[in-house]
Amino acid sequence: MKRIKNKYDLVVVGGGHAGIEASLIAQKMGINVVLVSMDTKSVGRMSCNPAIGGLAKGQMVKELDVLGGHMAMFADMCTLQSKTLNLSKGRSVWSPRSQIDKIKYEKTVQKYIKRVGLPVLKGEAVSITEKGGKIKSVVLSSGEEIFCVSAILTCGTFLNGLIHIGEKKIKAGRMGEENSIGITESLQSLGFLSGRLKTGTPPRIKRSSVDWSSGEPGFGDKKPKPLSYHTKKFIPKDEPCFAFRTNKKTHDLILKNINKSPMYSGDIDSSGPRYCPSIEDKVYKFSHNPSHILQLEPEWTNSEQIYVNGFSTSLPEDIQLKCLKSVKGLENVEFLRPGYAIEYDFFFPSQLKNTLETKKIEGLFFAGQINGTSGYEEASSQGLMAGINASLKIKKEKELRLKRNDAYIGVLIDDLVIKDTNEPYRMFTSRAEYRLQLRASNADQRLLKYSKKFNLLDEKMIKDLTKKVKKTKEVEGILNKTNIKPEDINPFLKKSGEKEINQPTKASNLLKRPKVLLKNLPKIKKIQMNNINKNFIEEILFEAETKIKYSGYINRQKEEIEKTKVYEDMIIPADFDYNEIKSISNESREKLIQILPETIGQAQRINGIRPTDISILLVYLKRWFHVKRNVNLKKK
Ligand SMILES: Cc1cc2nc3c(=O)[nH]c(=O)nc-3n(C[C@H](O)[C@H](O)[C@H](O)COP(=O)(O)OP(=O)(O)OC[C@H]3O[C@@H](n4cnc5c(N)ncnc54)[C@H](O)[C@@H]3O)c2cc1C
Repeated sequence: MKRIKNKYDLVVVGGGHAGIEASLIAQKMGINVVLVSMDTKSVGRMSCNPAIGGLAKGQMVKELDVLGGHMAMFADMCTLQSKTLNLSKGRSVWSPRSQIDKIKYEKTVQKYIKRVGLPVLKGEAVSITEKGGKIKSVVLSSGEEIFCVSAILTCGTFLNGLIHIGEKKIKAGRMGEENSIGITESLQSLGFLSGRLKTGTPPRIKRSSVDWSSGEPGFGDKKPKPLSYHTKKFIPKDEPCFAFRTNKKTHDLILKNINKSPMYSGDIDSSGPRYCPSIEDKVYKFSHNPSHILQLEPEWTNSEQIYVNGFSTSLPEDIQLKCLKSVKGLENVEFLRPGYAIEYDFFFPSQLKNTLETKKIEGLFFAGQINGTSGYEEASSQGLMAGINASLKIKKEKELRLKRNDAYIGVLIDDLVIKDTNEPYRMFTSRAEYRLQLRASNADQRLLKYSKKFNLLDEKMIKDLTKKVKKTKEVEGILNKTNIKPEDINPFLKKSGEKEINQPTKASNLLKRPKVLLKNLPKIKKIQMNNINKNFIEEILFEAETKIKYSGYINRQKEEIEKTKVYEDMIIPADFDYNEIKSISNESREKLIQILPETIGQAQRINGIRPTDISILLVYLKRWFHVKRNVNLKKK
């Protein structure tokens, strides 16, 4: 066996979204890292939809950007269309989404990796070795053994991947790419528990075979905003997507053939993404719905290949084609590739600490779809956090743990490690109880402190964002102090049907009225933007306005966060013995032993744990600390 002895501190396995963020941040943090991937030509590939961002996912991409991630920056370089979703709802759930040129994205990632000199090794990892509970090496199918201090596994949908198209089965990690065999078995032999999940993708059709006049075009925002603070110039092409609709004939065809879908024939019994169902599921489970929207999206600039969003399927190819041909405008449609479902192995994420390090083997981290998630943004977020924490561990520094009120990324990881998952997990705004605080527009205010502490951004960006955060506060302060005279605002109030004022009134009080925006107030001279990056000015004003408008709700939420803080900071030692507690329910004990929560806050969130059991646990913990360690519960 060829051995590369101690050549790398960190080995990242997998060149998908998780692996890229993990390895790039580690390199930025000065770690001797190598990215190992089965196919170096597919590094950065977007497996499915040509889009980045969306509900809650857009917020995560902004968070990644502030924490030194790269996805936002890459996406901005390849945007075909950009749109803020949810504009009819409250500002906290406004979510940016970009339609992406997939080919350009892949090339941009690979070019960047080359430019920054990240070492990339073509190879398939087949096993992991450990010594004394610590990671020792990653072994490749070639026989090479790479010794390391830490390793991050980001194998996506490749572990024992099996594609289904009707009765046809193809061993693959993605269409046209080999699956990976060995890692699952190696990890199982080390005591890790795995499960099986499935996901699906729609057919790709020929642009020239569509009657576009039957579709309804959808364009992006008139004034598109970039995802990344690093992007200076952002003028996307605004290529339209087109909405088409299924009909009764389509649904009848699907129902008639539903038993040929492996999901219904019994060939697949693993769970698929609940919130991204196949067309079979949509028609079968929501039979009252007479029609479903299909969004036809370009996969790259002037691409002949079109993605049929909303038609994920594993029906046999000829049935897929017949169904699509029943849609008005798609009568002559031709396939470039049929849709398919893929089953793959994942590892139950409750086997991880909040840092994404495995509880069983020190120095071994998992990130991305291997943890049961679905989505590029979810994968990137985990990759970044695993990359940061593996690097900090190598440097023997304290790890970075994001809380649920810090970021959607904190919610994602907390949900994964304490709730586990039996179906592909994707992020939604509804998963975040503190979503009022987690706006796309305030990612910098929430996370810059961590980027500063761990040097995740370059100096200039840290400086610019620090000024931005400071200025936002300053503007908020000015608005809280400045009086607006009746004659300066009453014409607007009258016109918009608002009650007029009869004495000078604080700008902030006026802004709390739903119809009043900063732009409706007279110019306030004290608000100056000297020395501020001009790309940030609009967001500073928007954020100051938002904080004032929602201050009542935001402050209430802050109080709630404060109340729970004490439990979030209260640690439970890894070697705490739950069997010592006789008076809690068996269900609670079993769950606590299975999940091994790291804090009381986490323990409280485990499904089925009763509040009375938490009180008992607190008593035992205090005793444990006093008697066995002779120390008090202390902050992390
Ligand atoms: C068919 C399909 C449909 C999908 N549909 C959706 C969807 O509708 N919505 C959505 O949000 N997401 C969807 N996804 C999921 C999305 O693509 C993934 O969540 C995301 O790409 C996962 O990123 P990752 O980095 O974890 O893994 P991947 O992007 O899968 O990358 C894995 C990487 O690891 C490498 N690799 C694997 N095993 C090894 C090994 N042993 N040694 C070396 N390298 C290895 C691979 O070559 C690849 O580079 C879909 C994925 C697929 C495949």
